[in-house]
Amino acid sequence: MKKLTIVIPAFNEEKILPNSIRRLLKIEERLINNQKPDYMADILIVDDGSSDKTWKIIESEHRKHTTIKGIKLSRNFGHQNALIAGLKEAINTADVVVTIDADLQDDPTAILKMFSRFIAGVEIVYGVRNNRETDTWFKRNSALFFYKLLNFIGVKLIPNHADFRLMSKRVIKVFLQYQERNIFIRGIIPMLGFRTTKVYYKRTPRLAGKSKYPLTKMLSFAWNGITSFSIMPVRFILVLGVFASSLGIIMFCYSIITKWLGLTTHGWSSLMVSIWVLGGLQMVSLGIIGEYIGKITTEVKHRPRYIIQMHLD
Ligand code: UDP
Ligand code: MG
Repeated sequence: MKKLTIVIPAFNEEKILPNSIRRLLKIEERLINNQKPDYMADILIVDDGSSDKTWKIIESEHRKHTTIKGIKLSRNFGHQNALIAGLKEAINTADVVVTIDADLQDDPTAILKMFSRFIAGVEIVYGVRNNRETDTWFKRNSALFFYKLLNFIGVKLIPNHADFRLMSKRVIKVFLQYQERNIFIRGIIPMLGFRTTKVYYKRTPRLAGKSKYPLTKMLSFAWNGITSFSIMPVRFILVLGVFASSLGIIMFCYSIITKWLGLTTHGWSSLMVSIWVLGGLQMVSLGIIGEYIGKITTEVKHRPRYIIQMHLD
């Protein structure tokens, strides 16, 4: 018997979890009845250090339904780490995993489509929302800006895709080799290769509880996305430094000339020249140091340099 596991990170979701579980159990039934008799499905809920009744709910659902499993993290590690914990745990027994948020804002019936793509041989299926009307004007536009910016610095994100996706066991194993501490999962997955496809769905508003991503957390998530894929911000210092140094040289000529012509007060030229030239040199040096720090940043991640898709043996 093969197995599909649905992995759900949950942080203080007592208000919505029972309802979500009910809906997912129905999906589970439809998956198995309609599609593949040689597959079974289960649900793994990762309690990411909740302080409410989330874990109690998981325990009682586990007693009622054998297909509901749970793990509890020792404290709140954040959405991305909770997902990784769930993936790692799931592949001990699963052949394919779907990750979905506990609030089921992402349409769970899309899991059926994802699974049929998997059966057809696709190993990564991205859930992509085809509407953003449920978002505020600010969230829509900041998201659009973020995709553009990341694309500009060379990170290939799938637009309008968050962490609702299907991955085969093989893909997850490869993904788990990315050992970086500050991980940005949706930036890494498109780097893995393999056969991929998208499934479109409509995203609905949260039915209960509140978003665990306030503005500050969203910004830090975005910043993490930028800095873990690019050392461009550091390079920018170097560019600024070169620019400031060039200005310094111009200022140098300008102040020498005005001094010769006797147009300045005593001491002005030497001050101006030293400020600009030294300032520029400092920035260039910072930029060079930054370049090395950037290299260290990419090295300490120990990302795999190649990924083998298949072995002939
Ligand atoms: N989540 C988590 N740990 C956290 C924050 C969020 O496990 O520290 C979970 C949360 O329970 C939900 C998912 O991550 O299942 C997405 O969070 P949310 O729905 O609040 O984000 P939004 O949809 O508002 O972007
Ligand atoms: Mg949500």
